[in-house]
Order: sequence, then C-alpha cells, then structure tokens
Amino acid sequence: MLRRPISALLTAALVAVCAPACLSTRSPGSSAPSPARPSLPPADVPVPGSPAQTPTSSASDTPRPPAKPSPTPDYRLPIVGSSAAITGKAWTNMLSWRKRIAEFSKEHPDRVVLNGPDRPRVALTFDDGPDDRNTLSVKETLDRYGVKGSFFLIGEYVRQYPDVAKKLADDGHLVLSHADRHVELTKAGEDEVKASLRDAAAEIKRAIGREPAWLRPPYGETDERVVQAAASIGSGIALWSLDSLDWSQTEPEPIVQNVLDHVRNGDIILLHSGKDNAVTAKALPSLIEGLQAAGYELVDLAALLDRPAYLE
Ligand SMILES: [Zn+2]
Repeated sequence: MLRRPISALLTAALVAVCAPACLSTRSPGSSAPSPARPSLPPADVPVPGSPAQTPTSSASDTPRPPAKPSPTPDYRLPIVGSSAAITGKAWTNMLSWRKRIAEFSKEHPDRVVLNGPDRPRVALTFDDGPDDRNTLSVKETLDRYGVKGSFFLIGEYVRQYPDVAKKLADDGHLVLSHADRHVELTKAGEDEVKASLRDAAAEIKRAIGREPAWLRPPYGETDERVVQAAASIGSGIALWSLDSLDWSQTEPEPIVQNVLDHVRNGDIILLHSGKDNAVTAKALPSLIEGLQAAGYELVDLAALLDRPAYLE
C-alpha cells in the first residue's frame, strides 16, 4: 500500500513501517489509511452525488450494465478492523472514511461492493503487487494451503513483473486491477482516471490474456466519476469490509489477531502483497489456519460474489 505523504504528522515509527514509495502517495480513507495519515480534509473526501463529481456523459462513456444485481442486497457489513498503531486523528479519519464509503456503496449497490453474502465464506484480497518477492511468497503460501487469492495489481508493476502476474493467473488466483499507478483517482482529471483504468486493464491483458472485471481504486478512494469510468470499461468496484491494517504492523501476530477478532460471514479481507509488505507474507499461514479453524471457507472474489472476475 503506497501512501500519500503527510510529513507534518509523520512519526519516526511510521516512517519505519512505510517505505519511501509509500510515503509518496499516502492517503486518507483508503486501502491503507496510515497512522501518519492525518486527515482527510473534508475537501479530499468524495461526496456522493456532488455535482462537481458528476460525470459528463457521452456515447463512448456509457457504462455497460452490471452483469448481475448486487450480490448482497440486504447484507451490508460495516467496515471493521483495528490496529494499535493507528490512533488519534488518523483513526478518527479512518472511521469517517469507512462511514462515507459505506453510504456511497449503498447508492451504487450494483457497482460498488464491500462484502459478499451471509455465508461462512470470506475472500483474501491482496493489493499493491506484483513485486518479485512478497507477491510470490504470498502465492506460495496460498498454494500450499490450496487457497485461491484475489490480487489487485498495479499496472506499472505488472509492466515490470508480467511473469509474476502470469504465475498468479496460471495457478488459479485472480488478477484484478488496482489502477495503473498508485494515486488517488478522485484527485485526478477525468481523462487521467480513464487512461489509468484502461492502461492497467491492457497491461493485465498483455500479461495474462484476460481483462479484469473488478477494480479496487488506490486507497479505496472512490467517487461518482471513478465508478462511471470503471463502468465504461465493464468494471465493477470491489473494496473491502475487513481491513487487516497489515501495513501498519511490523510483526505478524497483530495482523492475524485483528482479522480473527473481527471476521464475519462474507467478509472481503484487505491485505497487501507489495514490495513493502513482507510482514503480511509472514502472517499468512497463521491467518489461513485461524480462519479455517473458525469455520470459514476461503474463496476468491468471483466465488464469494458469484460474479465473473474477467470480462467475457
Ligand atoms: Zn494500494
């Protein structure tokens, strides 16, 4: 998880867990709200329905219809997950983001998904790869346990490590989009957003021969324009309902504990497999064993949501 810089509030401890690439893109409510992340000023926050974010439409922008109605019309989980490393304003901001995005997803039930149905199945999802170490380590663990993972890969890293993306797909893991570069799409221009989504999809298609049907915007930052841009290339938006907050930890145990303390039927669990996420790879065996011991079946996102992972 790469995060946006918030230097003023950045603590030394935070710096220790967040690599330079991270710091260059830290952001608020997102896939990796950080202890250092101060605050999402209100202006940063997508306001659903805000006129400024209403996309202009044109024939080529017409969203494709979703393949199916919402997989969870009556089962909406609040986003949960905690970390002792995240306190004060950063924590308040994260809670605020969670609330906002839950409301936003309700307004787009067919296109913005936070969780799966109320059954004892959950999906492990990994953002920010591929790299040539942690992504492979995560994959190896998943393979050892016979579990399929769902990987939201960054287009520019797929360009760098296409063979890693292909290995994931070849062994049955899902290769989905985390945009072309790890920036907040809600702050990018409309053309830039569309280009980022198209470039990432094209890069993934080059690597694995298929185009992803799901996007997870960097930091989870999502607004009307991002939803429409994703829809214009046939993509839905998959966020998460349980945040492992793995990026905020230096040891595996608190990651595992956080997930096991909060897991519920249908959770989409946010983890990371980027170059800065070695601790996640270390936590994975205990995490898988703990979830299975608690009676959860671990499935990929397409199985959890009963919707295709790739465009036909
Ligand atoms: Zn990310």
